[in-house]
Amino acid sequence: MLKYLSLIALLVAHSIGFSESASAQTPAPLFATTKVEGTENVYIFRYQNHQAMFIVTPAGVIVTDPISYGRPQAAKAYLEEIRKITKAPIRYLIYSHHHYDHIAGGKVFKEAGAIVIAHRKAKERLAVLKGIDVVIPDQIVDGRRTINLGGTRLDLVYTGRNHSDSSLVMFLPKEKIIFAVDFNSLGAVPSRLAVNDSYPIEWEASLKKTLALNWERMIPGHPGPMGRLGTRKDMEQQLQFLTDLSAEVKKASDAGKCFDPATKEVRLPQHATLQGYEQNIEWSIHRWCGYWGRGIGG
Ligand SMILES: [Zn+2]
Repeated sequence: MLKYLSLIALLVAHSIGFSESASAQTPAPLFATTKVEGTENVYIFRYQNHQAMFIVTPAGVIVTDPISYGRPQAAKAYLEEIRKITKAPIRYLIYSHHHYDHIAGGKVFKEAGAIVIAHRKAKERLAVLKGIDVVIPDQIVDGRRTINLGGTRLDLVYTGRNHSDSSLVMFLPKEKIIFAVDFNSLGAVPSRLAVNDSYPIEWEASLKKTLALNWERMIPGHPGPMGRLGTRKDMEQQLQFLTDLSAEVKKASDAGKCFDPATKEVRLPQHATLQGYEQNIEWSIHRWCGYWGRGIGG
């Protein structure tokens, strides 16, 4: 996370014209709003190390993920940033999945008139958990839903269980952009939190279904390296990593090596150049060992 923040600091400093030496002393602003290049109305709101997409149309605004876990001021800043761009009504608030770090803080949008939408499983989970500052969705999506608003079409697509069992891919077919959160780490090995309650095997299938959509750029839920957007190549790389990981852990599991010594022995040298490889590979092996060796999850 610190690495991401300093990268953001560098990026922001560059964008406002500081030299690289000056940028080293410039802290990243707490939050920032940027219009996605090449689009007329698609924006990213970033607050610290989380971000969300929003879409502005003449008929209203589609907001996603309030990203306010433990910091209710983030959603307030998010709404104020939108209000600098448009006075159009807030029509929808859509959750990417049910994890609080992405979806806490929806109250300000609900009070502004938004209909809150999430995957069926997200609503089921949130209704039981009753988390602090988490708005329960008004409407659910099971497989797919299309929202047409003010000339913009947004498809909400469930591509199956992956990092969570409630992930919706938000797909703008005209702009060929998706907003996809936590199941595709850009050029990196998934973090401990990314694999914690994930679904091995199904995750691979979900990436394949997501790749079957006709998109070119991906907005991630955490800023990418240097703030860049994701590409299809990133997703193909993530899929290859998970496929190779699964095959190697299955072998170790069949040899009776899960959890130990598999977590120390299994390595994927062909993926060693991915960011976070050294720090995170053991978490991935541990999770896949749980699946192959114990039948946990999936
Ligand atoms: Zn998550």
